Amino acid sequence: MSLMENDVALPILSDDPAPSTRPKRRLPSWLKRPLPQAGMAYTSDVIEDLRLETVCESAKCPNRSECWSHRTATFMILGNVCTRPCGFCSVPKGKTEVVQIDEPERVAEAAERLGLEHVVITSVTRDDLPDGGANHFYECVVAVRERTGAAVEVLVPDFLGNRASVTRVVESAPDVFNHNTETVPRLYHRVRRNADYQRTLDLLKQAKDERPEMPTKSGVMLGLGETTDELLEVCSDLRAVGCEMITLGQYLQPTPEHLPVERYVPPEEFDEVGELVRRMGFSLVASGPFVRSSYHAGAMAAVLGRDTAD
Ligand code: SF4
Repeated sequence: MSLMENDVALPILSDDPAPSTRPKRRLPSWLKRPLPQAGMAYTSDVIEDLRLETVCESAKCPNRSECWSHRTATFMILGNVCTRPCGFCSVPKGKTEVVQIDEPERVAEAAERLGLEHVVITSVTRDDLPDGGANHFYECVVAVRERTGAAVEVLVPDFLGNRASVTRVVESAPDVFNHNTETVPRLYHRVRRNADYQRTLDLLKQAKDERPEMPTKSGVMLGLGETTDELLEVCSDLRAVGCEMITLGQYLQPTPEHLPVERYVPPEEFDEVGELVRRMGFSLVASGPFVRSSYHAGAMAAVLGRDTAD
């Protein structure tokens, strides 16, 4: 993973995937990981004991072994069933669950038991709720902060463009406000159906306008068929709405029913594109095959001087 502040070199990138980087049935060597590390049991027990969901499990994150063995997890609130049919995501779709009013306290307790100093909270998309779950986000941020004093990062859905919902989340004063762009606009219909590229930019801009001191963050998956030019254009658009932190990671097909990987991007190309993006003025760029929105989120925030946890 590349995780650095502004500066450094600038290679040329090709928009045309080389044959050696076209999709293969087998994972390329750089995506093979060592066997799961020991020590996941404590995190697993806390999550299970408090009946919480994590995006680590629901999205089949390849970093789960590493993160959980370090007692880090990303809480997924508002149930484990999503109202959107995104082609890349393995979170179950269908009939949503009743919002549990004690969930904020349970998230806070888990954060306390895990000793987290930087807590990442995300949710399924709840287009069925009038506020998209914004007030529940607010309650979770406040509960975690009150109980643990930890920094809190939210990774929110687009709330269907409901500005009042964005405001409600911003009112909880998260230490980082994250909303993923996921892919380039040309691929939105295939990858992120029912979402809207401009809505994503508007949401990030609104959050920044309402609380300028709060860093905003976004993420893009590579390997879905985007070109480098398209990717850089997205990054430029994100800078234009004040986004300061960005994560770039390899898309991995969670099951055969999900969108196929169009290309496995080599680590050196992640480094190269990371440098190009860094030169656009982002304060923080994390670019690498295993980078995810919440991967080492505390370390990213710490580089900005907002907190010190990993
Ligand atoms: S990168 Fe994020 S989602 Fe993946 S295992 Fe780590 S904390 Fe969970």
